[in-house]
Amino acid sequence: MKVAVDAEICQGHARCWQICPDVFVLDDEGHSNVATPEVPVKLEAKVREAVNNCPERAITLT
Ligand code: SF4
Repeated sequence: MKVAVDAEICQGHARCWQICPDVFVLDDEGHSNVATPEVPVKLEAKVREAVNNCPERAITLT
């Protein structure tokens, strides 16, 4: 499973980082970036939770 954040849509709520800081990291303005695009199996549930909690629907899974 791969995860990506659309920087044009992300508004910096940081919910993804709060849920799964091993995958999502924040830049200086609080916007999210993906530290590990290839999601480790043990973190898949947390990443799905982050997707479901992003108010902007900025996170996509493939
Ligand atoms: S929860 Fe969504 S909008 Fe907020 S920082 Fe994460 S990706 Fe961006």
